[in-house]
Amino acid sequence: MVRERVSDNVYVFTSELYAQVNAGAIVGPDWSVVVDTLAYPEETNEIRDFLENRLESPVRYVINTHHHADHTLGTCWFSDAIVISHSLCRQLLETKGREALREAKRLNRELWDVHVISPDIIFSEGGISLKVGKRTLKLVHLPGHSEDGIGVLLVEDRVLFSGDIMMPLPYIVDGDFDVMIESLKRIPQMPLENLVQGHGEVILRGEVGSVVQDNLDYLATIRRHVKKAARRRDPEGYLAKIDVESCGKSRILLNGLAEDLHMRNLYALLDRMQ
Ligand SMILES: [Zn+2]
Repeated sequence: MVRERVSDNVYVFTSELYAQVNAGAIVGPDWSVVVDTLAYPEETNEIRDFLENRLESPVRYVINTHHHADHTLGTCWFSDAIVISHSLCRQLLETKGREALREAKRLNRELWDVHVISPDIIFSEGGISLKVGKRTLKLVHLPGHSEDGIGVLLVEDRVLFSGDIMMPLPYIVDGDFDVMIESLKRIPQMPLENLVQGHGEVILRGEVGSVVQDNLDYLATIRRHVKKAARRRDPEGYLAKIDVESCGKSRILLNGLAEDLHMRNLYALLDRMQ
């Protein structure tokens, strides 16, 4: 796990074990808020150790940006914390989340002690705010990668933890293509110093616009290819030749998962168009 400080008492923790997942922490005067967790127990326990033992700041809240296992499985290691999410995230954790974990446990011994935690505080319409000392955390719905996606905006510091609506490569298989575009377009309108994506590097103020545009361009490119494919006799065969690089993204992104995620994007989009 790599730790980075992005603002006063604001940290980002990036997984070295799985797809550069990011978790974050806002350290207040008496307690901390954690935004997402890392999937492998050893990495989330490193986060907890840093906050609770080194900074002596107990974790009072854990925010789940969405239900996907790579972000939520570590929640169970903060047993005293109150968990906050979108209402759909709780629904999805209790159904798909439990199912996915059962499957993951069969394949991975390291997850045997992990269990799914149902969020305690949920919201649906609008958003909610949380005060951490003098700071304001605004939780806003940012769907598209998944319907339950939220972002956490640190208003005074101008830091956005976006969840997976922003990743080095957009992933739409569990989400909605048009909704993702709408959510992405909202991000450059926020006044930001730092954008902490769900995976990969932290984006600095001057780069936010171009990085978001790069993802919008990727989405437009794959839509063009899938439309073309849908008119062919062998659409799958056509799409198999459209690699991630030809759509403007590097194959080394996300620890090399990029090509695989890209192909799944193409086939998911084709499914929906047909
Ligand atoms: Zn996700």
